[in-house]
Amino acid sequence: SEISAVVSAHLRDVPDFPSPGILFKDIGPLIGDAQAFAAVTEHWRLRHQHRVDAVAGIDARGFIFGGALALALGVGFVPVRKAGKLPGPTVEKSYDLEYGSATLAVQRDALEPGQRVVVIDDVLATGGTARAACELIEEVDGKVTAFEVVLELAALDGRAKLSRWPVEALASS
Ligand code: 5GP
Repeated sequence: SEISAVVSAHLRDVPDFPSPGILFKDIGPLIGDAQAFAAVTEHWRLRHQHRVDAVAGIDARGFIFGGALALALGVGFVPVRKAGKLPGPTVEKSYDLEYGSATLAVQRDALEPGQRVVVIDDVLATGGTARAACELIEEVDGKVTAFEVVLELAALDGRAKLSRWPVEALASS
C-alpha cells in the first residue's frame, strides 16, 4: 500500500546499535520528514476516528507518534512509561527481554472506566513490550481497541503475544 511504501522509504538500518550484532531500525528519517510523519498520523486518524476515547503511547518513541495522533483525533494521551518516572499511584508490569527484564508503568487514574484506547509504538519486535502495555491499559480499566506500530519485525512473531487485540503494522520487515 501507499502508506507502507512511504514508511519503508523513511526507515534507516543501523548496524550494531545499541549493541554489537543488532540491526536497529531507525525511525529518525520518518519523523524528520513532515509529509511522511503527517501521512502516518493521518492513516491512523482515519482508522480510529469515532472509535477511541484516548491514545496510549509506549516510552519513548511511542510518545512521538501517539502524541501526534491524540492531537489529530482530539482525544487525550496516556503515557506508558518506564517504571519510576510517573508520580502518584501507578500500576506496574514487568516482562522478559532477550537479556534481562523491563518494567512499564501507567498512572492508576489515567482513564475513566471503559474508555476505548488505541496503543501506539514505533516497532514491534518480540511483543513483550506491547503486551505489557496493553495489559496495563486493561488494569486501569481501559478497553484496548487496537495496537498500532509503524514497523513490525515479522520474523520475531510478536503478534503471537498479542492475540487478544487487533494488531496493525504499517510496514513489515
Ligand atoms: P519487543 O518488546 O517487541 O521485543 O521490543 C519492542 C520495543 O523495543 C519497542 O518499544 C521498540 O521501540 C523497541 N525496539 C526494539 N527493536 C527496535 C528497533 O530495531 N528499532 C526501534 N526503533 N525500536 C526497537
